[in-house]
Amino acid sequence: MQVRTILNRIQKHKGFVYGAERWGKTKGSLSIEIPIRASKRSKPVCSVCERPGPGYDRLTERRFEFIPLWGIAIFFLYALRRVDCPKCGVRVEKVPWAQGKETLCTSYQWFLSRWAKQLSWTQVAEAFCTSWEAVYKSVQMAVYFGLAHRQLDEVEVIGIDEIAWHRNHKFLTLVYEIGASSKRLLYVARDRTEQSLRGFFEKLGETGSKKLRFVCSDMWKPYLTVVAEKASQAKNILDRFHIMKKFNEAIDEIRRDEARGMKQQGCEPLLLHARWCLLKRTENLTERQATKLKELLGYNLACVRAYLLREEFQRFWQYVRPSAAETFLDQWCKVAMRSRLAPIKKVVAMLRNHRYLILNWFTAQGTLSSGTVEGLNHKAKVVFRNAYGYRHYNSAEIALYHSLGALPEPVFTHRFR
Ligand SMILES: [Zn+2]
Repeated sequence: MQVRTILNRIQKHKGFVYGAERWGKTKGSLSIEIPIRASKRSKPVCSVCERPGPGYDRLTERRFEFIPLWGIAIFFLYALRRVDCPKCGVRVEKVPWAQGKETLCTSYQWFLSRWAKQLSWTQVAEAFCTSWEAVYKSVQMAVYFGLAHRQLDEVEVIGIDEIAWHRNHKFLTLVYEIGASSKRLLYVARDRTEQSLRGFFEKLGETGSKKLRFVCSDMWKPYLTVVAEKASQAKNILDRFHIMKKFNEAIDEIRRDEARGMKQQGCEPLLLHARWCLLKRTENLTERQATKLKELLGYNLACVRAYLLREEFQRFWQYVRPSAAETFLDQWCKVAMRSRLAPIKKVVAMLRNHRYLILNWFTAQGTLSSGTVEGLNHKAKVVFRNAYGYRHYNSAEIALYHSLGALPEPVFTHRFR
């Protein structure tokens, strides 16, 4: 069987004919070259208006990289025609296997972008003998297609999150859809200013913004302001993930101060390696961390007192009736205010200032699952961890949309794997 027999079966293009393949050499390695010619009666299609027109002339032959076969690179060879388009003038023709000036065939780009969901971009480039840039451009093509074809009409529940990016305390704003049936990344922007979030509402449009029922966020003022301005009908909820994050920041601050104090007084370094056993959920502790925690609980330490206050607060999330939750919140705040721990008192102030938005959680119960924003935040961090090459904002944005955007793909007659 010849390669063109397979191509004719899975990827035939009207008006074009595959020639017989021949061996070639590309960058010192073996490759297979397949010439393509236009069939005699076909007219070239103008790449601007996409209408067929009379041929003008023919450019020099170009190579288009296709999906490799058994580790051997495949190239299509074709001399593009120029169209004497009555409307647009003399233009290069549009061909069905590649877009514009791309040297990679569209099928190959989709192939690479699909693998880039499983592997890092560097790994994909290595596995399929191509460059990191080729993988990046392929993923970018897939993301642009997906963004242009996705549906945003039915979005009712969103979560707004921020993620640290780069050193130097740079942030990205992320907006997720967190409805029962659809969990995906909808939007990425630089920074975490009002402007960062406004861009999302511009994309959603006024009608779309008015359809929002619930917005989960942390208590970052610029976000709260924009939500109140653009989607005043939606219930704004301060979600569990972001509130518990504040607790952990407080515990960490107390532990650091205490460890420093103990060291200065020449005490036993009790708090060495104690960070995660105080911050992680009990069920996620390793055996060593669990032992360490048990040991710490025997001491009257400030960070242990803060830890116990946080654990006590976890009960808050189990309430069903908003009024019962409210009573618990008030009680807890009273006790915590007597703790003489300044960072914990700051948490109390935050809870009191935002109590209305926090209690909204209970009115929305059943609609929202508490772990969704946390889960998506974790996935976004994994994308960054695998991101060897995402030093620039643009590639970071593309990588996030690609991994978390659940973006649509076109329908293919044959799916290359
Ligand atoms: Zn034209």
